[in-house]
Amino acid sequence: MDKLIIDELKREFIDAAKRAYNTGIQTGTGGNISVRISGEDMMLIKPSGISFTDCTMDNIILTTLDGQVIEGDGKPSREAYLHREIYKLNNNINSIVHCHAPWSIAWSLREKVLDTITQHAKLKLVNQIPVIDIIKPVITEDEIDKILCYYTNNTVLKAFLLKGHGIVAVGDKVRETEYLAELIEETAQISCIDRIM
Ligand SMILES: [Zn+2]
Repeated sequence: MDKLIIDELKREFIDAAKRAYNTGIQTGTGGNISVRISGEDMMLIKPSGISFTDCTMDNIILTTLDGQVIEGDGKPSREAYLHREIYKLNNNINSIVHCHAPWSIAWSLREKVLDTITQHAKLKLVNQIPVIDIIKPVITEDEIDKILCYYTNNTVLKAFLLKGHGIVAVGDKVRETEYLAELIEETAQISCIDRIM
């Protein structure tokens, strides 16, 4: 485990978290971000109850992909299970950004997919974004297959919406994954406005 590499990943994590907060795709203490430690079966994840804007080098949690906490204050985010299972299934994914973005949540309440209706979304997203209906407030073993079915055979769905809950975007570098979450929210906002015009 290389401390210099982990510290650099933490800096990228904090940068993406602050950006998500400042752009308004996450308020309060909701949402979570994680970054895989390449080659180590570990990840960094936001602590539970901490705002994106209050993530620090000391409080970001380092855990194994089996859920054992290695360092960091507090408890890992409640959605750590979702993050771990996606990383275990797909080696091409190195960061995950989940946020309770309001336009995306509004769209998810009545729709089954978010279409790539803008030219930029068509370029970046390629596929429609599915809305996945998870009944419980936190994803557990009972319902994880509703999500993991999109990540078998090393196919990478870049993002999905959780009905009434928010965006999950996946990718390589965390800043790019955060940009993707912003794009999903922009697309959802335009889709909502388009529907009422
Ligand atoms: Zn959430």
